[in-house]
Parts: sequence; C-alpha cells; structure tokens
Amino acid sequence: MQPRPLENPAEAPADYLKRKTKIVCTLGPASASRAMLERLLAAGMNVVRLNLSHGTEEEHRRSVETVRDLAARRGLAVAVMMDLPGPKHRTGDLADPKPVRLKKGGQILITTRPALSGENLLFVNFPGLPQAVTVGEEILVSDGQIRLQVLSAAESSILCRVVAGGMLRPGQGLSVPGAELESPTQDPRLHEYLDFAISQKVDFLAVSFVSTAQDILQVKEYLSGKSCAIPLIAKIERRTALLNLEEILAASDGLMVARGDLGLALPLEQVPLIQKDLISRSNRLGKPVITATQMLESMVQSIVPTRAEVADIANAVIDGSDAVMLSEETAIGHHPAQAVAMMSRVALEAESILPFHRPPSAPAQETSVNEAISYDACHTSHQVGAVAIVVFTESGASALWVSKYRPRVPIVALTPSEAVCRRLALSWGVHPWVVERPNTVDELFVVGASKAEEMGLARSGNSVVIVAGVPVGVAGTTNLLKVERVG
Ligand code: PEP
Repeated sequence: MQPRPLENPAEAPADYLKRKTKIVCTLGPASASRAMLERLLAAGMNVVRLNLSHGTEEEHRRSVETVRDLAARRGLAVAVMMDLPGPKHRTGDLADPKPVRLKKGGQILITTRPALSGENLLFVNFPGLPQAVTVGEEILVSDGQIRLQVLSAAESSILCRVVAGGMLRPGQGLSVPGAELESPTQDPRLHEYLDFAISQKVDFLAVSFVSTAQDILQVKEYLSGKSCAIPLIAKIERRTALLNLEEILAASDGLMVARGDLGLALPLEQVPLIQKDLISRSNRLGKPVITATQMLESMVQSIVPTRAEVADIANAVIDGSDAVMLSEETAIGHHPAQAVAMMSRVALEAESILPFHRPPSAPAQETSVNEAISYDACHTSHQVGAVAIVVFTESGASALWVSKYRPRVPIVALTPSEAVCRRLALSWGVHPWVVERPNTVDELFVVGASKAEEMGLARSGNSVVIVAGVPVGVAGTTNLLKVERVG
C-alpha cells in the first residue's frame, strides 16, 4: 500500500505537528511485531532504521512492508533507512538463540575459526586478531559494554578474562582501544546489501565506517548503475572520517553522529565537542544530521530514563540535530514505545528555547535563487506573522532549503512524489504530504492555503507563505514566494 496524506490530522499523535526534531527508531526483536510498530508510530516515530548487521533479509522485508502499511493507514509519512553493516569486526552467532551472560572474573576463549559462541567460546570474524593484540590489553565488545582482558594469544585464539561482564548477543561489534585494527576497506557483501535495499525501495541508506568521500561515491556509483538514487547518510565513527569531513559532507546527503563507535575510536571526552561540530557543519550546508546512540540507554531496562539522558537529548536538539535516534532502546529494549514518547516530549520541550525570536542568519551575499527564496520565506513568515510555510516541491530540495533556515512555523511540503514525501519525514520541521500537481499558479495558491487549513495548522484569516517553482512541475525552479490569506 502506498502512503497517503493525513486524512485526519486529529488521528496523528498529539505533538506530531508541533515537534520539529524527528525521531529515528532502530527496529529489532522488541519492535518487530505489528502491534509494537503501531505503538511506535502512535508515540511519534518518523523514521525506521533497519540495521543489516542484525536480523535476516526476510525479517527486514517484513518490517518494511508492515511499517509502510501502518503508515499508510494512519496517513503518516514514515521513511525507511537501511543501515549497511560496513567493514566491522563482529562476534558470530550463538549456539543458543538467547543472549548469554558473560560473568565478571570468568574466562573466555576467542576463536577466529568458525564456531558457535557461548559462555566460554566467542567467534570473531577477524583472522588477524590474535596477532594484533598483546597480553594485558583489553578487547571491547558491544561499544565497550563487555571488556575482555587478553591473558594469552595463540595462532587462531586468544584466552581472555572477563573484566566487565554483560549480555553477549550475535553480531556485536568488537574493538581494541588504541590499536588501529586492520579492516577491509569495503564490506565483501556490499553489493548484495545494496541490491536488497533497492528491491525494498528504501528511503535512505546509512553508510557505516566511512573514511573518505570515496566510500560514499562508490555506493552512489553502484546505485546509479542500477538507475537508482537513494540518499546516503554518512555515519561518522572513524578518526579518518573527521580528517576528511568536508569532502564526506559534500559527497553525502546527510550525516549521522554515530557516537557508539566514535567513542571507541577517540577518547570519550572528545565526543561531545565533535558532535557539536558535526551538527553545526551539517546545519550550515542544510544537510540533515542525526544524533545517535545511547540517548535513552537506561530505558532498555528501566521505564524512566536518567536525568543525564534527558539532558543529552535536549542538548542535541538545541545544538541543531534534525533527528535524534534510538538504537537498543527500540530494538531490544523492554519499553520501546515509552522511549519514543519520552524522546518526543523532551525534544518538544527543548525546542521551546530555540532562538525563533531572532531572524535567521542570512545566506552569503551571492547565493542561488533557491536558497534566497527559501531564506526569504522564513524571514517573511517571521515578519508578517504567518502560521505556516507551504512548499511545493518536486525533488524535496526546496523543503530542505527552507528547513535549513529553521523557521518558527511548520513547513508543509506538498509533493506529487510518494518517495519524496517519505524522505522528507527525516527533515527538521517538515510535514510532508502527497498532492496532485497543480496545473496553474492560481490553483497552487488555493491548494497551498487549503492544505495548511486541512492539517489544522491555519484558520480562515491567517496568512501562510507559499514557496514554489514556476513553471509548475519542473524540479529545481524554486523562484516564487507569495503571502496568501487562508479562506
Ligand atoms: C554507532 O556506532 O553509534 C552507530 C549508530 O552504529 P551501529 O549502531 O551500527 O554500531
């Protein structure tokens, strides 16, 4: 079933049209059921992330189908982001499907020969690991939740003591702090994953362990060879990515601040400042940026988050994140829907402090017509007290331009494309809706004003600012700005 516009905005979650920051939820066993996906949508989920490092193709296929069906029934735009595993060293499958507890003080043998893992044996997919570690060094599993100290190393195995215990699950990431573990530059299954993503018509691809722009360009090239242009989100989680950030940003369609692996690649205390820098650089280019990982980690177990987690979300919102992301909280947590609802409330509250009273900073003196019109729309809406900015967009680009200038009022993006509508679900402040392409400029004004009214964002007598391109229906022609009175 294809997404439809909101038929009844009153059915949408209470803060759905008020919150500007979007919420990305990672799906997993805790959120695979139709009933739970329905609750996540009701709680405010905007984007689902399918992590190909976990789960089977069949499970992901079912999730895409269910999410799209539910979103269509509710009349919500929901984007699907597929996260490519990337060249990461990982633990293997478990002998028993249930997670295994590794107890502090116990011993475990790491093997690089294929085997099913358990309490005493752990397979990792990196043959060179025994040669890369030294006695006394620590091996971290699952973003450092489990810490194993090397006691001795042989040709294809390492004997370790469990220094910090925890739950071992299949496919968990593995790292050795300080050691630049040699890793393949490209995942050998990359093309297989990309073919799967294309077959599922996903709305975004998150590219893991990006080091240079080339990592993004090679994915783009493969997709374009298949006549496909899925927007690419570069996950920033390697030291080298920080050195090549400008070119990575230029090549990609957005960034993810992947704090889990970033916190293993760098001293943890550096992560908050890097997060701020990544957000502000993405904001300057008007590219969506997602702040990710451990945002409500304690809610995996607990029904209430820590005060520090709440402050972390609020700060990510205030710093300018387009979206904030839940990982284990929704994938394997005990309270997925409560975590989304909590994130939504915290984001909404934090947005009240955004500097809407100040006009947005103007673009550079010489800029494109697109950017000038989009900036003027935000500025004008502020000056005339308009209640919404309505953008007619073929490719989604104009809505992204307007979002870049962070207006106080909601951005209603009207597009004839269902794919564009879904994609805009990730963009700050944008409420996308599929409409038939208007035939004339006059019709465009009427449709723009009436949609804002139908969504409950405007009443008769209110002003809305309309942004569009003439001739109607041609992408990249944003050149028109009109203040329209509703009714
Ligand atoms: C991260 O490392 O923070 C991250 C989002 O990536 P993944 O969940 O794939 O480890």
